[in-house]
Amino acid sequence: MDAKLDFSILKTLTELPGVSGRETAVREYLKNLLKDSADEISTDTLGNLIVFKKGTSDKNLLFCAHMDEVGLMIHFVDERGFLRFVTVGGIDPRTLLAQRVRVQTKSGALLGIIGTKPAHITTEADRGKAVGIKELFIDLGLPADEVKKRVAPGDWAVLDRGYEEFGDGKISAKALDNRAGVFVLTEVVRALKNPFYNVYAVFTVQEEVGLRGATTAAYGVKADVALCLDTTGAADIPGCAPQDYICSLGGGVGLTALDARTITPENLLNELKQICDKHNIRWQVRVAPRGGNDAGAVHLSKTGVLTCGLSVPTRNIHSNVEIISKQDLENTFRLAYWAGQNGLKV
Ligand SMILES: [Zn+2]
Repeated sequence: MDAKLDFSILKTLTELPGVSGRETAVREYLKNLLKDSADEISTDTLGNLIVFKKGTSDKNLLFCAHMDEVGLMIHFVDERGFLRFVTVGGIDPRTLLAQRVRVQTKSGALLGIIGTKPAHITTEADRGKAVGIKELFIDLGLPADEVKKRVAPGDWAVLDRGYEEFGDGKISAKALDNRAGVFVLTEVVRALKNPFYNVYAVFTVQEEVGLRGATTAAYGVKADVALCLDTTGAADIPGCAPQDYICSLGGGVGLTALDARTITPENLLNELKQICDKHNIRWQVRVAPRGGNDAGAVHLSKTGVLTCGLSVPTRNIHSNVEIISKQDLENTFRLAYWAGQNGLKV
């Protein structure tokens, strides 16, 4: 198995716009990328992309990776042409101050700036205060009549920040949650050759607003086992105590023992640890009492599915400067690959 990942694919994936419910650009890119590696590709009613690869057994493995990213939806254009918005998915308004966004309109994307009062006219008290979403606005640099022609309530916006590789194998970009998981899954689909399992690689929609795509996708597949590839918060930063890190950057693939939506069955968790040890894959246990991912919906599908979330540790998650480690991506890829290729003893 060649574990050389093509990071140019990850770069492209992070640059595509795909707020929850508006994942078309990501889906079309993946369809084209994976058409020669799949036995069948289809899209379901909600927009999940289902990539099927035939295996050598009669057992089915469901992989999930959500395509959507957190973002904004415009709900009001004021008389001077400033846009007011709501968040789609969990965004801390403090991370939006003085940032750039790309507003997606019927006539293409427009650069927008989330404005803020300059330090010159704010008081000491203003500057120490948390900011609320209702105080924020997007400035398109256009006259009001032009804005009204081009932007309407219901249009949406993505955070805007380029992809950068930096430090010792770190990557920062917007939408690493969850283009990192999407990227790992594309590389798994491309690498698998005559896998043990019939592999259903499902790129899901609307995870950030409540695991909606995974709910219908899991219903459509008779899975014997499922692995959900997603990012998870790495709080290994100043101000957080080691017992609250959840995961550490560079610490390897996060094997979920528990999160707010799932408890991984012991036999599956142990089998995944054994595969990691056998193939020298670095792993860490993920215990995250406050967060969940597609696994939360998948394991409750039909009469229940053996499911584990495989997590890529991510600093600054749900901001436009998310940070991940290439090594963690490689470890996640290798575990997912071996699970699909050789099968799991569960
Ligand atoms: Zn996610």
